Amino acid sequence: MRLVRVWPRLGREWATSPGNLKTTPPPSRFSLPLRYKGLVSVTPVSVYGMTSARTLRKVACFAALSLALAVSSRRLFSSPAEEKRISVYSLVANYSLPVVERDGQDYTGLLEALEPLGNVSATTEGSHWRLRYNNQRADFTAGSNRGDVGRTNFDLHGDFLLENGRGLVPLSTLGPLLERILGGPVTFHEASRRVFIGSVEVHFTAQISPGIAHSLVMNFTSPVNPRISTEPGKLQMLFSHEPVVAPGSMSLTFDDKVIPSASYAEQNGTAELTVNGNVPLFATFSNGNHTITISPAPLAAGQAPAPASGSAPSAGAAAPSAVPPPVAAAPAAPPAPVQFFAVVDASHGGAERGEALTDQLAEKDVTLAFGRALRGELEARGIHTLMLRDGDATMGLDQRASLANVASPAIYICLHASSQGHGVRIYTALLPLGGSDVGPFLSWDTAQSPFLSLSEAVASSLALELETKQVPVRVLLAPQRPLNNITAAAIAVEVAPPGTGIADLNSPAYQHLVAESVATGVLSVRSKLEVGR
Ligand SMILES: [Zn+2]
Repeated sequence: MRLVRVWPRLGREWATSPGNLKTTPPPSRFSLPLRYKGLVSVTPVSVYGMTSARTLRKVACFAALSLALAVSSRRLFSSPAEEKRISVYSLVANYSLPVVERDGQDYTGLLEALEPLGNVSATTEGSHWRLRYNNQRADFTAGSNRGDVGRTNFDLHGDFLLENGRGLVPLSTLGPLLERILGGPVTFHEASRRVFIGSVEVHFTAQISPGIAHSLVMNFTSPVNPRISTEPGKLQMLFSHEPVVAPGSMSLTFDDKVIPSASYAEQNGTAELTVNGNVPLFATFSNGNHTITISPAPLAAGQAPAPASGSAPSAGAAAPSAVPPPVAAAPAAPPAPVQFFAVVDASHGGAERGEALTDQLAEKDVTLAFGRALRGELEARGIHTLMLRDGDATMGLDQRASLANVASPAIYICLHASSQGHGVRIYTALLPLGGSDVGPFLSWDTAQSPFLSLSEAVASSLALELETKQVPVRVLLAPQRPLNNITAAAIAVEVAPPGTGIADLNSPAYQHLVAESVATGVLSVRSKLEVGR
């Protein structure tokens, strides 16, 4: 699929409203790659004095899924080499701009830097470039290192450049220049190329949870949605869209044997938090994306052993939840590594509400309640379960797939709820045509392919179990993301009302019945799933 960037002419790669992660449909003439979802239309008045228009959107879940499918493009082996970029954070929009090098100096486009913030226009006359931003005027001359902003003559610390009508200013002058044009405080972290307009910084705290062993709880002052990756001994969070700033100290140490430390760094327009652990780590989002909880991932067969200290990772819940964690047993012999576990993914969440089932009932709340019920039933059958979202949090489909794949479960179960039809629909992935692996790299769009027959076996087993309980059930193929991206047996379970009223969707008895059937269905193919890994 073709990848078209937002505002390709300007080269701006992403734009989000700060503080909330609501998404607005992209302008129809652009297709929006998933990772740049979050484009927000704003009515700029002053960057210092307004919040962005909140566009509440009721998303029918399959509409959202098909949009996601239509715009998905692969990046496992298509991501370009990292280019130099600058990030700009403000009250009206967060965005990233390309940085170009001219005569050994870094430059960026001034019009592009101002465009998301207010009404801006530029005209070129010979070597003169005149800029108008709201009521402010600025005047520059190609090849001159001085310019006028209003009535003030300004030193640019380098020559102004004019390229195809595009005005480029030296990066080192961007902070003071924006401050002069915008008429308010601008903080510029020049080494890491991050510009903060006004007081927009997101701060965070990090501490080992007093309630759950070996869980690091990070609380952020605004919602965050970092890209998460892991490597042995590390879990990394990359914040490119959020003005996250350093804690008091760049390195943090914790009084915990499993998660002893974390560190903060920023570079190329991005803040990076690295959590060091002695075991594979897993991240769970909650509290409207204000909280990220890092805990030990269950150990898959053949993975790193527990730390030598004998302080084995907790097998408890990955994150705080409505249900208090079980009281820890007295420390005895370290428990055997968990080799068989499930990932439950409560679809939607946070700004993305899913289907409006009734005026009061949002799909995201039903999927979470159902997810917790399912976790209870799976755990009761000895199947350890991680939930990707254990609270109200906004998460992208790529992010869900990446988190699940990193955890490497035996089975991934994605949950949806719907007002349409009756009973339960179970989906396995309908893989897109044309995806093919390149050398050792797996195509992201067809990553599910080797696991498809296993997924279908799980779906049949669940259907059988639901039929036994007299719940109407259908098994379907659907191009449902992120199923096609999951490198494990993967199914989606969509729960519709049993037959009578829509409110029954939220009935604990019905949720319990369905959760019980799904858990039993998984249990009966456990041996197949173990072989299939
Ligand atoms: Zn849904």
